[in-house]
Amino acid sequence: MTGGFTVAIDGPAAAGKGTVSKAVAAHFGFAHLDTGLLYRAVGAKMLAGTEAIEAAQTLVPEDLENDSLRTPALAQAASKVAVIAEVRAALLDFQRSFAARAGGAVLDGRDIGTVICPDAQVKLFVTASAEVRARRRFAELSGKGHTDSYEQVLEDVKARDARDMERVEAPLKPADDAAIIDTSDLSIDQAVAAAVAAVLAGLDASTGE
Ligand code: C5P
Repeated sequence: MTGGFTVAIDGPAAAGKGTVSKAVAAHFGFAHLDTGLLYRAVGAKMLAGTEAIEAAQTLVPEDLENDSLRTPALAQAASKVAVIAEVRAALLDFQRSFAARAGGAVLDGRDIGTVICPDAQVKLFVTASAEVRARRRFAELSGKGHTDSYEQVLEDVKARDARDMERVEAPLKPADDAAIIDTSDLSIDQAVAAAVAAVLAGLDASTGE
């Protein structure tokens, strides 16, 4: 095996990917990269007036340390810049270097198992119905004081799904060899347990090589 041990976790918005990724990284002591933040940071720079491709090419790690990247407006901006091939290309090396770091890495996003790390030792696709995801996102946003209605959140979730799945560049889809975890009827603990079990199986398989 060359490089590190990589766990690729993909899936649509609000399926529980972030929670599962953080828990898996903590459980195994792996580093974690939420790759959505890269696209959100490019979207933020675009809204501030920088051309999207230039924003991606000049992105620095500090750009990710911004709490306001997690707003609904930046989610939509991220999915708009994410359709641009040159934006995706500019973010590739950073993600691959992160994945190859010693000690293991978890990357979560939309195209990690298909494009960024097609050789990842473990690939998971974490999903849930659009309604369940919208309900979760609505609860999360309401708790933070956002005033969007459930219907608005559902519409945003569906719009982002469509843009992410139908784009030509690195569309959102499970890798052929990904394990699917549908969290619609799972508690957080159950979803994390399923992911940890899959990673343990991957670790066993790679030490047996
Ligand atoms: O995961 P998050 O909701 O933060 O992602 C925001 C947007 O960034 C997604 O809707 C998607 O368009 C884009 N993205 C992507 N590829 C990734 C991660 C995120 O295209 N690996």
